[in-house]
Amino acid sequence: MSLTLHIAADQWHGRVRRYVEDATAAGVTVVPVAKGNGYGFGNAVLAAEAARLTVPTLAAGTYEEVPAVAATFGGDVLVLTPWRPWLTGGLSDDRVLHTVSRLDDLRRLSDGDTRPRVVVEVLTSMRRHGIDPGDLAEVGKLLDGVRFEGFALHLPLTGDHTTEATTLARRAFEAVPAAARTVWVSHLSPARAATVGQATSAEVRLRVATALWLGDRSGLTPKATVLDVHRVRRGETYGYRQRRARRDGAVVVLAGGTAHGVALQAPTAAGTLRQRASALARGGLEAGGRALSPFRVGGKQRWFAEPPHMQCSMIWLPADVDLPAVGDEVDVEVRFTTTTFDALAWD
Ligand SMILES: *Cc1c(COP(=O)(O)O)cnc(C)c1O
Repeated sequence: MSLTLHIAADQWHGRVRRYVEDATAAGVTVVPVAKGNGYGFGNAVLAAEAARLTVPTLAAGTYEEVPAVAATFGGDVLVLTPWRPWLTGGLSDDRVLHTVSRLDDLRRLSDGDTRPRVVVEVLTSMRRHGIDPGDLAEVGKLLDGVRFEGFALHLPLTGDHTTEATTLARRAFEAVPAAARTVWVSHLSPARAATVGQATSAEVRLRVATALWLGDRSGLTPKATVLDVHRVRRGETYGYRQRRARRDGAVVVLAGGTAHGVALQAPTAAGTLRQRASALARGGLEAGGRALSPFRVGGKQRWFAEPPHMQCSMIWLPADVDLPAVGDEVDVEVRFTTTTFDALAWD
């Protein structure tokens, strides 16, 4: 009895495949990303899907995630988190591509004797990781001791950064003319990535997760199983907090709690009131303790009876609502990057 992600299997596999084929036709190689909670699917599922797509490279988020995805996916694995000196494992693994984002780190790797495969990240307007474009001339002097696999550009999500990517890639290739003309980009559409490739005569590799795995939500339906239903009379108490019912109704216990990421909210960048309201509706708890739950029963989003528990949640249903039965599944709105489902159902 579970928090389940129902997946329209043909629709999902077909759409993922089309995304990759369309990008390939435009001259862009897709690098699927499998990291974190696996975007709701889990990384094992994503690695298996990448294997079926026969793409050359899969990207993992961290070094810790590499063994699990490399067990399923037979190609190369790019680690997105930049290499740091305390990460000593995997350097001589020929299937692992390391992201290097500081000159000091590149120097260390180049001085070692493992000749690791590296992608050199260049700082963009994103300003997360990367070598300052002004220091690119130094990079050329440090490539003898590594196997250089290209430059990486991690771009912001908002706005059109095609020009920024083109400019930075040009600067990088000019600084290191002898090196492989490959650029690994993030957060460009395949069409924009293709434009960067044409403008710089480079091979473009597009690292992508959300647009690939979650690009069409219509075939992805999260459901929560009804685990229990209890009628409650006005004045009776319920829950860990022994809240007292103000009127007759029912407490419904549903699969899905904090361990699944239900009602956990990633800090939202929501600017507008409406966005904030919708973030709250996905499960943010109000300061006052009452919060709209992400569960829908009888066509309406329902209030939490109390804050969610570890693996289930208690919601409140007014007396006039038809009660669901134990074993029924109800709709639940989730954030795919913070939700761990108990089960995937390939419908
Ligand atoms: C996570 C990540 C991606 C994939 O991000 P999506 O927005 O989910 O497509 C791409 N590049 C880098 C560097 C990342 O860390």
